[in-house]
Amino acid sequence: MNATELYTKAGKPTGVYYCTKCNTISSPHNPTREAAEQCCQPKLCACGKPAEKYSTTCHDCRAKKTAEREAQRLQKAERVETIPDDCQLFADDNYCADMDDYLEQTDPEDRREYLYLAAFRAVQLPNAIDLLDSPTDGHHEDIMDTVPDLTDLNAAIATANALFIKSKWGSYFQDYTRKIRIQSR
Ligand SMILES: [Zn+2]
Ligand SMILES: [Zn+2]
Repeated sequence: MNATELYTKAGKPTGVYYCTKCNTISSPHNPTREAAEQCCQPKLCACGKPAEKYSTTCHDCRAKKTAEREAQRLQKAERVETIPDDCQLFADDNYCADMDDYLEQTDPEDRREYLYLAAFRAVQLPNAIDLLDSPTDGHHEDIMDTVPDLTDLNAAIATANALFIKSKWGSYFQDYTRKIRIQSR
């Protein structure tokens, strides 16, 4: 019983309750006895166990939800039979160049049935107008009304982008829409 009502100096009840455990009116817009009573009570998950800090669910329920979401995502992913040229494998925050690489890195008991692919993406510049977004920031608001002809700049950007692709200058990003089955040796 942590809720205590506040009284005026003259001894009149105010209808405002505070929590005697932390000495605050936890809900100033709703300073009722119920709200003050709830203030320092552990929050409960729908299953009845104490919720985690800053959360409305307990650890087990959250883990279950996460596992369900992951199972759905894996189920929905398209199954490929071979790793496409521009892809690697994505395995638990780790990237593996190919199946052999994964099998070497992972103990048999830790191996998954399926892995997601990781697709290569080169660094790419946006078009000239978007590229100018940041350099024109802070200029007068009509600055883009007087933008010079950007044809040459766009051509240069296209050349740079083609070079980045050709040089394979980029990274692999996990692709949760495609999966491949692990073939154990
Ligand atoms: Zn409290
Ligand atoms: Zn729970």
